[in-house]
Amino acid sequence: MAIKIYSSLSGKKENLPNTRPLRLFVCGPTVYDNPHLGHGRTYIAFDTIVRYLRSKKINVFYLQNITDVDDKIIERAKEKHISPLELANKFEKEYYKIEKILNIKSVKHAKASKHIPQIIKQIQTLIKKGCAYKINDGYYFDISTFPEYGKLSKRTASQAEDATSRIDNDINKKNKGDFALWKFSKTQISAPPERASLPPLARLATGGAFGGDINADLHRKKNSMKIINYEPVWYTSLGWGRPGWHIEDTAISEHYFGSQYDIHGGGVDLKFPHHEAEITQQESASGKKPMVKIWMHTGFLLIDGKKMSKSLKNFTTIKDFTKKYSPEILRLLINLNHYRSSFNYTEKSAEQGINTLKKLQKIITSLSFIKEKGIVSSEIEYLLKKAENNFDIAMSDDFNTPKAIASIFELINTIEPKIWTLSKNEATIIKKFIIKKLSIFLGTTLKTHKIPKNITILAQERELCRGNKQFTKSDLLRNKIKSLGYIIEDTIIGPLISKD
Ligand SMILES: [Zn+2]
Repeated sequence: MAIKIYSSLSGKKENLPNTRPLRLFVCGPTVYDNPHLGHGRTYIAFDTIVRYLRSKKINVFYLQNITDVDDKIIERAKEKHISPLELANKFEKEYYKIEKILNIKSVKHAKASKHIPQIIKQIQTLIKKGCAYKINDGYYFDISTFPEYGKLSKRTASQAEDATSRIDNDINKKNKGDFALWKFSKTQISAPPERASLPPLARLATGGAFGGDINADLHRKKNSMKIINYEPVWYTSLGWGRPGWHIEDTAISEHYFGSQYDIHGGGVDLKFPHHEAEITQQESASGKKPMVKIWMHTGFLLIDGKKMSKSLKNFTTIKDFTKKYSPEILRLLINLNHYRSSFNYTEKSAEQGINTLKKLQKIITSLSFIKEKGIVSSEIEYLLKKAENNFDIAMSDDFNTPKAIASIFELINTIEPKIWTLSKNEATIIKKFIIKKLSIFLGTTLKTHKIPKNITILAQERELCRGNKQFTKSDLLRNKIKSLGYIIEDTIIGPLISKD
């Protein structure tokens, strides 16, 4: 079944590129705070997509950058009077913890601070090609040199002024939408680092104050970073400074994937100016188009119908969410909505997630309860085939996760009325199917609750009472079991205990 993906660039569903490994780059976190549900949505959506592709034996190289050099980090470090490195380090670790909690294991990471030589190399190329210019506070990209600027976000260069951030708002820029590639150190540093502190190759290459061979940047990097007034700055052939946000991503993706690759993903809020700038830089530097075949964007996550914002104080962090609910509930909730649509999170939707998960756990518990030996009937074989097919139809259509989950429920709803007539073999293959498909969404095997020994003993006592027709006593025991958080259902094959 051909997998189709909606590309934000062409506005059409396109075939999954057939390069293997499939190269997928997704914008990672800027590590200055805890990730919120909006971030979680993007990370869970792409983890699910990669898990699905891998379940189809498609080799995927999934890479995410970590923005650990950025204005936001510097600002926050200043506020907190701590080193920007310490701050970035702390939240990078927090991010990995969150990934672990959410069962996100599909991705490799690349930190901006570890790719300064690659960043410098790309900026040098842009300077040589006449696409970048130097003014007093840094090097900027001249968007007038790229006629296709705006092709992703469908904006024109004159509308690009919307992109002007406080930081990039230098009055000497050629065009309002020009963005920073390299930001000079805010504090004047006249001298290169001590020659003695540089590795031998770099010592050879440091000709003038900021001159020298670009390859020497590779060797200079380690010993030539300073933090001055909360700003991390590197000594490079471009002078003391630090990279702009957009160039960090393209330098990393070019380093690992080359100048052209398969899929770039991220939140829809990053489409402009960030992704537009990425295309502009990369296609200008390499002269090759398109930079990526498919652009994928996850929709907004709203909280009670409103965008998350500082002023509304409605940021829900993933950490806070998972204190209240299980990570599986978050993953399920996110996947109950198509990745491109806006997702309105409310307390009620959390309830929906809880109930859906409960229903799934209940069916697994019931299927595990079946002990009667027997063959797998052709009807069950047919139902499983149909469910598998519907699942793939949904996932192949731009990863329609809500439809794919619905195909699992269609199977459940069909077998449920006759569940106690199933043989153990039938129950086992249905259970395996459900668990395997769900693990794509949950990132893990669906866990059912283990019934504690005291509950089993109470249930056995109750069975004895029922056998002796002591119905008042057996009802009392049922109530006791319920008060301990478990329910007993008297099925035709015996009493089934499950978590309430
Ligand atoms: Zn990015």
